[in-house]
Amino acid sequence: MAEENLSNLLQEERTFPPSAEFAAQANGTQELFDKAAEDREGFWAEQARKYLTWETDFEQVLDWSQAPVASWFGGGRLNAAVNCVDRHVEAGNGDRVALHFVGEPGDTRDITYAEMHDQVQRAANALVELGVKTGDRVALYLPMIPEAVVAMLACARLGAPHSVVFGGFSADALRSRIADGEAKVVITADGGYRRGKPSALKPAVDAAITGESTVEHVLVVKRTDSEVEWTDGRDHWWHEALEAAAPEHTPEAFDSEHPLFILYTSGTTGKPKGILHTTGGYLTQCAFTSHVVHDVHPETDVYWCTADIGWVTGHSYIVYGPMALGATQVMYEGTPDTPHQGRWWEIVADKKVTILYTAPTAIRACMKWGEEFPNAHDLSSLRLLGSVGEPINPEAWMWYRRVIGGDRTPIVDTWWQTETGAIMASPLPGVTAARPGSTQVAIPGIDLDVVDEAGNSVPDGSGGYLVARSPWPGMLRGIWGDLERYKETYWARYDGLYFAGDGAKKDTDGNLWVLGRVDDVMNVSGHRLSTTEIESALVSHHKVAEAAVVGATDAMTGQAVVAFVILRSEAVTEADEEGEGAELVAELRNHVAKEIGPIAKPRQILVVAELPKTRSGKIMRRLLRDVAEKREVGDVTTLADSSVMDLIKTGLSSGG
Ligand code: ATP
Ligand code: MG
Repeated sequence: MAEENLSNLLQEERTFPPSAEFAAQANGTQELFDKAAEDREGFWAEQARKYLTWETDFEQVLDWSQAPVASWFGGGRLNAAVNCVDRHVEAGNGDRVALHFVGEPGDTRDITYAEMHDQVQRAANALVELGVKTGDRVALYLPMIPEAVVAMLACARLGAPHSVVFGGFSADALRSRIADGEAKVVITADGGYRRGKPSALKPAVDAAITGESTVEHVLVVKRTDSEVEWTDGRDHWWHEALEAAAPEHTPEAFDSEHPLFILYTSGTTGKPKGILHTTGGYLTQCAFTSHVVHDVHPETDVYWCTADIGWVTGHSYIVYGPMALGATQVMYEGTPDTPHQGRWWEIVADKKVTILYTAPTAIRACMKWGEEFPNAHDLSSLRLLGSVGEPINPEAWMWYRRVIGGDRTPIVDTWWQTETGAIMASPLPGVTAARPGSTQVAIPGIDLDVVDEAGNSVPDGSGGYLVARSPWPGMLRGIWGDLERYKETYWARYDGLYFAGDGAKKDTDGNLWVLGRVDDVMNVSGHRLSTTEIESALVSHHKVAEAAVVGATDAMTGQAVVAFVILRSEAVTEADEEGEGAELVAELRNHVAKEIGPIAKPRQILVVAELPKTRSGKIMRRLLRDVAEKREVGDVTTLADSSVMDLIKTGLSSGG
């Protein structure tokens, strides 16, 4: 039943083995794979004890008797904030910089672990003063400033689950998330700097909690010094509250399964889900993967994850993973093109960043702007690059390695989800020979597979659906307040398997490739085509920086491929000057046919200036499908910029 599974179209043969030098110093080894294969639970127990400090050791590794809700490290007690801050100070590393903060206007602040310790304790005491108790939820609506990290860790210290909402979301989105989590306190700021100017946050909080609300108090960080409306008794300045708070806070240890946070998924495919994570298992997997996948050496590395704190990547790979290791990080407030398109590279050179973790959307934006921007800076400090959030097209991978990595750095393409808590699949940078565009292998201790409709493992060289066969420590423990939706969404499709919602394939060497969302799969003349491979074929054309592909109803073929492409800067000027738009479209259609076959040839290609994306940079294909099928456009509340859809629709009606 080959047609029922996803077609396997794209072939990629290039490989990049790690250098002997890199392999010799790498934290991740083949031995980890071997150990985990022998005894998965024993392996995780060892990692939990190696990476974390437990106040009370655990008695049981995994309890799956309440499946699909797992319990990891039962009987164990710990405090996440103590693991991310206090113990590093106690170990004599208080002087180590935790955060090199770079504000968008150019202000900088270095915060050591000792300073972080002081801030987190004071913030915890300030929250207690406002009535926050263990188990209460606290919503965070903040820019990318150090206080966001302090606030998260202060909540963790109290065992008060945080619910971070992207600073770019509307008052409505904030209101619904506050209501869903029944937050008692909101921590926000007057504003943050974005695109060269202050962008207000407090007004959205005011709007989100007027009328009926569970929120009793609002803590406000002063960042932009803009004027804010003030409700006495409800609103409090963060700096005043921390100053007034007692400097010391005695932490309590919580059960390994104590809730750590709620975080809503990015809403690429539908209504966001409030994903619940707990403490011991989550923190174990975050610390382990920061160490072996990102290869963080806390004594020497300067690590930079460009994600926003409001996305799971910011939770796991700015706060919990790197900080559990005691790493030194860069934190940058603004956009990559403010005040110029070389801003990131200037920061890398200035702070001597060694490890950079970012998203394909950012890499493709840099490709679009042109390599002269990174080329103008000394990027030789970089020794490892990472990617997360979407499949990275092989050509974008090659560009990333050549232009940013100087043809020398390994790249880790990490597949995971809000739901999985931490990295699930990735090459280990000192072990795995990298294959551009592929996330390659389940990391040690993780049990992934690609299965067909019936749940049978597919052979190498075929496509299907990505699943996890065994529970893992960082897995979600449910959807906040909706156990049924949790079971239905992830566990109903296959008996006993976690269904990730992503299409995937194994190549002939057994490497894992993510092919995009199952919701986005197209059916063209009986062939099930994934979005990713056709997009990658388009991006492999030298004039294309980014592409999004959707299936639109077609009288002849059932569905037809419709592509939206963004051109590289050089190509845009050419197309304009020579009026060669139609020619270019024909060229691109033929290019797809040549790269992966005539079946995938787009019926229509539209050149656009922007694509609809979530705040975490993921393309929202469901909205493009609405456009391609000339429907009313669906829910746009999680779009980074909702005017993008108007632009695209206008472009279409004027002939594209
Ligand atoms: P929603 O579930 O509400 O639609 P979302 O899935 O976009 O939101 P996230 O949890 O942030 O929210 O995204 C996880 C998804 O991102 C994965 O299921 C996968 O589709 C994609 N993804 C993440 N990393 C990779 C990667 N390295 N390669 C391919 N796809 C990736
Ligand atoms: Mg998802």
